[in-house]
Amino acid sequence: MGVIVTESYIDHPYFCPWCEHGAIEATKLEAFENMVYQWVRCDKCKKEWHDIYQLVNYEEIE
Ligand SMILES: [Zn+2]
Repeated sequence: MGVIVTESYIDHPYFCPWCEHGAIEATKLEAFENMVYQWVRCDKCKKEWHDIYQLVNYEEIE
């Protein structure tokens, strides 16, 4: 997977980064320390990966 695909996936994570198909499915979400991992699977090529999230901000709940 190339840099361009990686960047477009990070901006808009609604396609498979390997086969570029749009039928992907997010399953479980788990937090470890300051990172959150989302399990994602492609329904077409069956590849599985983690989307990795990091804290970007916080806000008070009113
Ligand atoms: Zn795929």
